[in-house]
Amino acid sequence: LASAKDDFDFFYFVQQWPGSYCDTRRSCCYPLTGKPAADFGIHGLWPNYKDGSWPSNCDPDSSYDPDKVDDLMESMRENWPTLACPSSDGTTFWTHEWEKHGTCAESILDQHGYFEAALNLKKQANLLQALTDAGIGPDGGFYNINQIKAAVQRAVGFSPGIECNVDESRNSQLYQIYLCVDTSGTKFIECPVYPRSKCSKRIEFPTF
Ligand code: 5GP
Ligand code: 5GP
Ligand code: 5GP
Repeated sequence: LASAKDDFDFFYFVQQWPGSYCDTRRSCCYPLTGKPAADFGIHGLWPNYKDGSWPSNCDPDSSYDPDKVDDLMESMRENWPTLACPSSDGTTFWTHEWEKHGTCAESILDQHGYFEAALNLKKQANLLQALTDAGIGPDGGFYNINQIKAAVQRAVGFSPGIECNVDESRNSQLYQIYLCVDTSGTKFIECPVYPRSKCSKRIEFPTF
């Protein structure tokens, strides 16, 4: 019998553009290991229901344990960097993601499996490559949101959700890209539901 905490329908695999996190009024802080590469970074792998709601913090007894992801640490620093202030080594971000989201898929993916699944998904969805191949680059220019979606669909095979935020000049910009993943955490699927989008028709792709 599945326990309530694991009864979700799919994952959102969410990647963030660091330039759009950093150029807002709240600014950002680089990790202690230095400025991340100018590439999309993992935000999280989030269990979700197909009605758009989601479970969170499903197991207060399962805290993040860095020893369990020791072999993944180098890849996590590179592909899942934190940009929140104050600067840290990432532990705060990874703890938050595991405890809020990861614990809701715990019977399917243990902690090592959860972080490994997200890292593998990023390898399967090279968003920066997908966009630059379509002539959409992080050059501070404005791009049609449908062309952004089409470029990801062409490269990954599935249409993404796009989340925008605003920079200090109030321009709508490309902040996060959502792809949907089956409950095993290994395969992209069509999204049963997309996150609400507050994007303008044309959005900025800022430099980082
Ligand atoms: P925000 O306020 O930045 O949109 O979202 C804050 C937090 O809520 C996110 O970091 C994430 O943990 C959670 N969240 C927002 N939207 C979704 C969603 O559609 N699905 C899930 N699973 N979590 C979400
Ligand atoms: P969520 O709750 O949406 O899954 O994750 C957002 C939380 O993670 C916020 O509390 C935020 O402060 C923290 N966080 C740490 N580093 C980052 C980062 O690089 N990007 C985002 N979006 N949130 C981060
Ligand atoms: P959280 O609850 O995750 O701390 O933060 C809520 C929202 O604020 C998230 O959408 C996250 O992206 C954003 N946020 C949190 N910390 C920072 C920060 O240091 N800089 C920026 N630019 N945004 C942040």
